[in-house]
Amino acid sequence: MGALNSELERQRDALSLSKVVGDIPVINMDTEHTVCPVCGTGLVVEKVKVPRKVFTVAYGELGIRERVKKCPGCGGKYRSVDLPEIVEPGCNYAYDCIVEAGRLRFIEKRQITEIQSIFDGKYHLQVSCTQLRRLVYGFLYYLGRLHYQSTRTRFLM
Ligand SMILES: [Zn+2]
Repeated sequence: MGALNSELERQRDALSLSKVVGDIPVINMDTEHTVCPVCGTGLVVEKVKVPRKVFTVAYGELGIRERVKKCPGCGGKYRSVDLPEIVEPGCNYAYDCIVEAGRLRFIEKRQITEIQSIFDGKYHLQVSCTQLRRLVYGFLYYLGRLHYQSTRTRFLM
């Protein structure tokens, strides 16, 4: 995650400039491996996906371009391990948006419209009230799952 963080920090520093030109920073995300961990052959980029717009509390609006690498030796495919920790596949809102929306709603007891102005003013993210409600429901969903998993683990032990 270290390389990713420094890349994101660099992009964030460039963000004020990119806002002026009306563009969003695009970062490439792929596996950290350059050679196949199975057979040692050098990996090649097999597929470059169309950049996906992702809203993050930490870095604002980002374009994320995922690259899939393939091993010409054994055919193994490798993707970024960091990306699934940041955002759910196919989703445009990072997990930190879900956490922040849930925190503001349930810990700070904010109304959806207040959360909307905090997202706008503090994180420079323009999010609709409908979408914020979805994020808040998402927070409850993940919280519920976490709770279920921890009780289940305790039960099995
Ligand atoms: Zn291989």
